[in-house]
Parts: sequence; C-alpha cells; structure tokens
Amino acid sequence: MGNVIRLANRTGFCFGVRRAIDMAGKALGGNRRIYSLGSIIHNRNVVEDLSKKGLKVVREVNALGKGDVVVISSHGISPRRARRIRKRGIKIIDTTCPFVLKAQATAKKLSEEGYNVIIVGDARHPEIKALVDFVATGTVVVKDGREAKKIKLDPNGKFSIISQTTQSMANFLSVIDAILEKRPRELRIFNTICKDAEERQEAARKLAREVDVMLIVGGRNSANTRRLFEVCRKISKSSRLIENEGEVRKNWFKSGDTIGITSGASTPDWIVKRVVKKIKSK
Ligand code: SF4
Repeated sequence: MGNVIRLANRTGFCFGVRRAIDMAGKALGGNRRIYSLGSIIHNRNVVEDLSKKGLKVVREVNALGKGDVVVISSHGISPRRARRIRKRGIKIIDTTCPFVLKAQATAKKLSEEGYNVIIVGDARHPEIKALVDFVATGTVVVKDGREAKKIKLDPNGKFSIISQTTQSMANFLSVIDAILEKRPRELRIFNTICKDAEERQEAARKLAREVDVMLIVGGRNSANTRRLFEVCRKISKSSRLIENEGEVRKNWFKSGDTIGITSGASTPDWIVKRVVKKIKSK
C-alpha cells in the first residue's frame, strides 16, 4: 500500500506493568490456587494469556479462604480491603506500582496533617477507589477543571491536590487553576503523575503532529490508553484507538499516508508488532 509506519519512541509495557506481570508469573506454576482481584492489568489479551497459565480473575474474595493466594494489581488496593483479605487467611501478592504507592503515601500524610485532599482522576477507576481510602476524611475526586469549578471550598480550610498517576499534565493544571480561582487560604500541590505516563503522552503528542493517521493500541478499559487517545485526538481527528490488529481497517489509510503508532502502558510489544504487520499486509 506504500505507507510509512512510525512508532512513538515510548511503546510497550511500562515498568509498573512489567513488574506486576513478572510477580504474578513467578507465583504461577506451583500447586497453589492463584487468583487476581480484578484484572491484573487493563489489557484483555494479556489477562486471557495469564488465565490460560492459571491466574483466575475474581471480583470479590468471598468464596476464597485459607491457603488461597490473591494477586493485587499495579493499581493498588484500599488498606481496609487488604485487611479483610488477610483476616480470611488469604495470602496477598501485592504488585502495586511504586508510583501508585507514592501517591497513596502522599494522600495519607496530607490527610493526617489535616488537609482536605482533592484528587484529579476517574472516581470509578480501581487506582482511585483504593487511593480515597488512604484519606481519613475530606476527600473529593474531580475529573477535570470544569468539575473542580463546581466544588464549594471553605475559604479557611486547608486543601491539597494530587493526581491519578496516568492523568495528563494539562488536565492536572486545569484543576489547579480552577481551585486557585477560589482563593483558598492554604493549598498544597503534589504532582503524582507517573513519569512514564507523562513521557508516553509527550512522545504520542509529538508523533501525532507529524503523521497523517495515528493509531493508539491498548485496552479500552485502560485509563492511560484512553488518555493517550484524548491527547492524540486533540491534535489529529484521524486518531483511532484499537485493542489489537483485528480492528485495523483498510479504508483508514490512503496510499502514501504516514501512520503513527503508540501504545498504552499495559499493551505488550507483540500486539504492537502484529498491528504493524497487519498494516503492511494491506
Ligand atoms: S503507568 Fe506509571 S503508575 Fe501506572 S503502572 Fe505504569 S509505571 Fe506504574
């Protein structure tokens, strides 16, 4: 078809996802039953692969007990939930990403020091569901600057802002602006966005400006993949989110188009390679 394909200079697994998969992989293969509390990473293909090796996804641990082993995903777990699991005699393999642990420790410390914690992120995402439980009282989750404008703040209160690790800096800054407009007496800001997410978005942004069509490869349930898509979509309306090579369509590209490819942090290299192969075969 005569297309040029260019890969963003940051694709494939991030450090946290690779570490989680390695930890789960090491636990598999023995006689113990191994469960994962929710998907270990937000990528259907990888989860299916691990399930063939014996990692069973469960939503709750009610049916599990002494001797069972549960893997916690890189998104982390709330302290209350972890205590409940241990109480049942279930062993935990905790793959929480160190960057997520840092955000949790920051939230806990701010809460102990009497700050209301404003978290920028998606309230339904497992990372945020766990993170809010590190704050004793006074936490609010906002999606973006528009939502932040609607919050009512006690002008004499102590406030802080932290972020879901995979947010874009632009969105984080939009919330900071909205909160500053309310003139809080005291405001502390901690940038808890992970370096990988920031650099991946920057690489995708750069590539999207230079190509005709941009493909973002990753799970539709993956927050960082969706964020990459939003970042690229703002630059190019020809950006498309696909989970794997099966979704590539011939009519998306004209002959001679340059096609850019980036991938979410939970997308393995082999899926990206298959996407490249599929485009070349068209
Ligand atoms: S995207 Fe960042 S925070 Fe999330 S698992 Fe990867 S390295 Fe950790």
